[in-house]
Amino acid sequence: MKTSQDGEKRYDVVVVGGGAAGLSGALTLGRARRSVVVVDAGEPRNAPAEGVHGYLGREGVDPRELLAAGRAEVRRYGGVFRDASAVAVERCDDGGFRIALDDGGAVHGRRLLVTAGLVDELPEVPGLAALWGKDVLHCPYCHGWEVRDQPVGVLATGPLAVRQALLWRQWSEDVTYFRHTAPEPDEEQYEQLAARGIGVVEGEVAAVETAAGGRLSGVRLAGGTTVPCRALAVAPRFTARVGFLAPLGLEPVEQESNGHVIGSALAVDASGATAVPGVWAAGNAVQLMEQVVGVAAAGARTAAAVNADLVAEETRRAVAARRGPFSPESERAVCERVLGARRHGL
Ligand SMILES: Cc1cc2nc3c(=O)[nH]c(=O)nc-3n(C[C@H](O)[C@H](O)[C@H](O)COP(=O)(O)OP(=O)(O)OC[C@H]3O[C@@H](n4cnc5c(N)ncnc54)[C@H](O)[C@@H]3O)c2cc1C
Repeated sequence: MKTSQDGEKRYDVVVVGGGAAGLSGALTLGRARRSVVVVDAGEPRNAPAEGVHGYLGREGVDPRELLAAGRAEVRRYGGVFRDASAVAVERCDDGGFRIALDDGGAVHGRRLLVTAGLVDELPEVPGLAALWGKDVLHCPYCHGWEVRDQPVGVLATGPLAVRQALLWRQWSEDVTYFRHTAPEPDEEQYEQLAARGIGVVEGEVAAVETAAGGRLSGVRLAGGTTVPCRALAVAPRFTARVGFLAPLGLEPVEQESNGHVIGSALAVDASGATAVPGVWAAGNAVQLMEQVVGVAAAGARTAAAVNADLVAEETRRAVAARRGPFSPESERAVCERVLGARRHGL
């Protein structure tokens, strides 16, 4: 364990991840007069998309523009940024955290707010990854309007694919279900697809084809037939980007939607606290399906919980100081009491 006696500034809070969740958290903390550093690798999940849709007040804004505006707002309240990746974290003697960065540096914080988002693991079909976020899509609430009334394919890779096809049918009457590697629909599901006019194409998809200009033109089946479509809906596996927390013993756990595993995320309580005292998390790292407006809200809410925790610690310290002469020993004793109480859920 290390202390922060090595000359590095000790922030109240280190936020790892400068997407909507992290920036929103940092803004709340800055306005709560907390010193905050945001460590950000600069690869938000929606970077390939042309706009952020469904974000009230900024509908369709360029994803980078939204984050640039967020950074400026955080700076206005004293927040600072480190453009780097967190690679490991360790607990310090003082109860805080030292976060090692990939640029060789490190940052210290009394608390850690993890908002590092997730990785979309795409189905392995040639040509598919290059169109991700443009014509290969996952969320109809994000992109459905933009491809409304156009031919939409659904690449089925798991048991939730029929649900996904029925959902996309809300945006287009021309939906094709490519069974690909998904289990065969049951009788009821076949009936639902037929009733909604969704064609089912059996067999594996061999490649995604593009037209001039690099836009999606269709889906080629293993047998050689090409079925035209303008958009292809897929279901990535979502994995929270939290490998750097492993030294603390924090690992993502499987998360389900409609009874099926969709990926893995950090487990938190209602306040956003993880099982490790002092470490909070919010955004896609916690809620795999959440959109930008939802992660921004979660970031702000969780930041308020972090601030409340700091206030509680400061109050305990003040009471201890009032009761007796301040000494490093008494500070350490307070720290241990606080951490012990939290470990026991008090
Ligand atoms: C293609 C696509 C289009 C989308 N379109 C929309 C849309 O139109 N509307 C909508 O509401 N939602 C949309 N979404 C969902 C949206 O992207 C997420 O809801 C949102 O980005 C989650 O925000 P976040 O802050 O949790 O994570 P992110 O936005 O992913 O931000 C996490 C940040 O943390 C950084 N990071 C990761 N690991 C580390 C590390 N170890 N150290 C330092 N930094 C790290 C990343 O580089 C990134 O900058 C879309 C998603 C995709 C994939």
